[in-house]
Amino acid sequence: MEEKEEFRTQLLELSKKIKSTLERGIDDAREHNPLSESRDEADLGSATVDLALQMSSQKTLLEILNLVEKALKKIETGNYGFCELCKREIPIQRLRMIPYAPYCVECQSKIESKK
Ligand SMILES: [Zn+2]
Repeated sequence: MEEKEEFRTQLLELSKKIKSTLERGIDDAREHNPLSESRDEADLGSATVDLALQMSSQKTLLEILNLVEKALKKIETGNYGFCELCKREIPIQRLRMIPYAPYCVECQSKIESKK
């Protein structure tokens, strides 16, 4: 996959952000409004992730961190970008939005509907 390095960088950034969010503490992260901060408009994708991180509970953050670390391992082993359930390739557009996504959209919705 050509974009592998791109995703590796994103995932490493994300893992740093999650760790610092966890260190700062969730309440503190919620106090400042992410929307009022000036943002790089070319970087809307990651602004969405930032916002999602700030809205997340500590439990969710730990889950995401776990997924990010798994995704990084998969980059190392060359399994990155494949759905863990059906083993098909996850569309690149999905990975751009959620670089740590372990499943394709179909499998993800199947899993969610079981909850
Ligand atoms: Zn799948």
